[in-house]
Amino acid sequence: MIRTCALRLGWLLSLVIMAACSRSTDQALSGPAANVTAERLVAADNEPAQWMSYGGTYSEQRFSKLEQINTGNVNTLGLQWYADYETNQDQHGSPLYIDGVIYVSTARNVVHAFDARTGKELWKYNPMIEGPRLRYNLGLVNRGIAAWEGKIYMGTLDARLVAIDAKTGAEVWSVDTVPASLDLGDMADKYSITMAPRVAKGKVFIGASGAEFGVRGWIAAFDAATGEEVWRFWTVPGDPAEGFENDAMEKAAATWSGEWWKLGGGGTVWDAAVYDPVTDLLYFGTGNATPWNARVRDEQLGDNLYTASIIAVRPDTGEYVWHYQQVPADAWDYDAVSPMMTADLVLDGEQRHVLLQPSKNGFFYVLDAATGKLLSAEPFTEVNWASGIDLETGRPIEVPGARYEREPWNLAPGVQGGHSWHPNAFNPELGLVYIPAWEAYFTMANPTPDSGTRAGASGGMFTLGISMGVRVDPDKLKPYARQGVSGRLKAWDPVARKVVWETEAFAHPRPTSGVLATAGNLVFMGNGGGQRLSAYHAATGEELWSFDTQTAVFAAPISYELDGVQYIAASVGGAAQGGYFAPTHARMLVFALGGKAVLPEPAPYTPPELNPPPSTAPAEVIARGGELYSQYCSVCHGANAVMARTSFPNLTVSPMLHAQSGFDAVVLQGARADRGMGSFAKELTPEDSAAVRAYLIARANEIKAAGPAGFGPGSAPPDRRRETGHE
Ligand code: CA
Repeated sequence: MIRTCALRLGWLLSLVIMAACSRSTDQALSGPAANVTAERLVAADNEPAQWMSYGGTYSEQRFSKLEQINTGNVNTLGLQWYADYETNQDQHGSPLYIDGVIYVSTARNVVHAFDARTGKELWKYNPMIEGPRLRYNLGLVNRGIAAWEGKIYMGTLDARLVAIDAKTGAEVWSVDTVPASLDLGDMADKYSITMAPRVAKGKVFIGASGAEFGVRGWIAAFDAATGEEVWRFWTVPGDPAEGFENDAMEKAAATWSGEWWKLGGGGTVWDAAVYDPVTDLLYFGTGNATPWNARVRDEQLGDNLYTASIIAVRPDTGEYVWHYQQVPADAWDYDAVSPMMTADLVLDGEQRHVLLQPSKNGFFYVLDAATGKLLSAEPFTEVNWASGIDLETGRPIEVPGARYEREPWNLAPGVQGGHSWHPNAFNPELGLVYIPAWEAYFTMANPTPDSGTRAGASGGMFTLGISMGVRVDPDKLKPYARQGVSGRLKAWDPVARKVVWETEAFAHPRPTSGVLATAGNLVFMGNGGGQRLSAYHAATGEELWSFDTQTAVFAAPISYELDGVQYIAASVGGAAQGGYFAPTHARMLVFALGGKAVLPEPAPYTPPELNPPPSTAPAEVIARGGELYSQYCSVCHGANAVMARTSFPNLTVSPMLHAQSGFDAVVLQGARADRGMGSFAKELTPEDSAAVRAYLIARANEIKAAGPAGFGPGSAPPDRRRETGHE
């Protein structure tokens, strides 16, 4: 067993017995793979060499007890090996390390297994995501995987749950998490999965995204061996005429008015879930109600349970146990899905087993894990929608005007969140939670007759009920005249309820990554401008080490020990300025003390030329192509074919524009399905595909004729390097 080699061995001693450990590792590689059992996961604290589940252990504290790398020597931390990915999307996937192997999910659901000592790829799995569900996502990202008894589990962007043989990479089973038997109609196409599954007691727990488009939220348990659905907990009630699934739904229905079920209601479970062996409960957060604007959604402004809530259910049955709603009648996209953890704290002299969440709405919540009782809630970042949380009722004390009922409100935190999906970490020895916190501002406004109610820049697929991009007199944006987002790492004391230290602010659209804390008194986080991985002193926040990653860092790093050596592993990668075709240097990076590997110098990059064929199609064909483009293509490739997210191809420079056959091969025949561009043959006819191409050719010629101004406001292509996947 590796663990006998790994546990608490000194550096020199490790070197002496490395040969013996190596043999053990080889045995591990040739023995059972991902041999994660119930016993091992519950006792994961006793195996600090491993990283067997998304948050490190069931507590999801993301705290490594390894201390070989520490504040005294982290300056000698160097790259040990790296392995290139072949994707240029944003990487959100936090890896697993089990018995000599690193498993990691990359963008568009490709999973790699690497020999953790050398970086040699052992296998690669591609689920070949496809179909209409790919139209309804906010970035082709995946946040992580789960392991259990020889299998690796992943939710996919086309809303499947797949089990992969950890030894070979072969698919064992693949199930549709929203099957036709649920009778959801078109709504079934609007689900996608980006969250990491959690596994306990022989069941895999997974939820799905989609509340921005209009779906009914759920979390479900599937049999880990067979993929059979065991139970499903809907987070919001369905049509009362069809009866309620359980008492919890009947109670929730009393907090809604109108015909909410037609838009699904929302409340999607798209990130945080924690199984707690102490209470034997499964906790998860729910997202916004649909649409965002509470008055558009429910004229009576009901609480709209169980949206923007934390819910506890029994993992065996899915039976409701308790809930705490953070934001009744949410009007601000305040998903309560940010990563959570359990911890044992002494509060007012009493030992408490608690659930902690720094939420998107800017408050840090401490709940009793067994009962859901609110113990404290204090702002950890700038907040202007509530002046506090009433601990008696658990309800926010709202600031008049924040519901943009009279005029637009410059919201803090904005819909980007005071803290989004990036995992936090906790150092139980110091009692500090490390939060990748954001200062975010976003103007919310009621729809006006001429503004529409959709996210105009995104092709009309969203169901939000607000006006986007409102231009408002800065005087009316008080108290925050700012826009956009910056972020910093904060160390938060959940007992004293205050910030103990914080880094400088990284003023960039993608300021922070997920976080790892270690017993070496270090905190690792990717930061500022998205090109660095840094190590900070856990007690003071002093930056002690950094590494030029050549690309953005979004995913949380992990730590593991192999052959007596502690490693830090980070899955890095984010779209580059210059567009989809620019190399992004997405990779697995693994560091150790004295590591000497060197990344290759980035090659010079020349963006593709804007060189479309002449536009010869009739105006009506181009117009029809524009409508189809808006409906099917713009969510990824950008409205008007100019505002593409950097992580998706800018189609105006695509070589596909030069031949209809090549264009059809991708659009109708799925030639790029392995890259996440599924076939649209079910939605588009060959005539439609020709019209879309004609539209793109026309737009490319317009943009070329207009020069740099063709990119719209401003004189140059905007920096589109915002992180995708914020739901
Ligand atoms: Ca949301």
